[in-house]
Amino acid sequence: MALAETNAQHDANVVVRWRELDSGKLARVIEIVNEQSRPIKRRHHVSVNAMLNNPLVGIATKIEALWEAVDELAAIAAPRSACRKGCSHCCHIAVLLPEQEAALIGKRIGVKPAKVTGITQRGDVESGYHNPCPFLKGGACSIYASRPLACRQHFNMDSDALLCELVGSEATKVPYLNLMDYQMALAMATISRREGIGRDPRTGLPVPVLIERPPAVGDIRAFFPHGKQ
Ligand code: SF4
Ligand code: SF4
Repeated sequence: MALAETNAQHDANVVVRWRELDSGKLARVIEIVNEQSRPIKRRHHVSVNAMLNNPLVGIATKIEALWEAVDELAAIAAPRSACRKGCSHCCHIAVLLPEQEAALIGKRIGVKPAKVTGITQRGDVESGYHNPCPFLKGGACSIYASRPLACRQHFNMDSDALLCELVGSEATKVPYLNLMDYQMALAMATISRREGIGRDPRTGLPVPVLIERPPAVGDIRAFFPHGKQ
């Protein structure tokens, strides 16, 4: 009963909060952040893209460049977001990353990631307060400098963490900053490509083709079930 009441109160608070945000408050914050981010994104568009398209640059270097690029934007977003050290509701939801990023994190923290096959979707992950990210220690990220892009780009542009709380009758929408371009760039950079032989659909004759393989994508809990141990 007490939980039902708490959930009902939370749901009511969420409705009020979204009314405030939708009245123009959120749009104003996003506009300020976008305005300040624009020249940086333009620079990234040239420099980061050039690196991502360079076949001579290894995948680990590319991922670190994306981390750095997002961190630069994070410096603009963070002071206007609800995100604070010690706030960790988001460390209890799904955190998806490709195998190459898991390998890079593993190398940096000295832990070999577990093998993950296939592509995990957000809904496949059992998340919630009972199942935190294994790197969450004492309410803070224990691999902060090596955390994945999914965590680096995660900013709630509200004034507090109400909408991130994992309570209530249904999943709450959170006004995250949109840095999907960088997540997409990571997805593109981690597709493996090799030349192979296919068949011309019209003639049936063998022709050279580019064979693409998407990376295995998993949740951080699957790659690192024991955290740093
Ligand atoms: S995304 Fe939400 S839970 Fe995570 S740090 Fe920001 S406000 Fe807190
Ligand atoms: S890696 Fe760090 S920031 Fe990301 S979910 Fe885990 S504890 Fe949180």
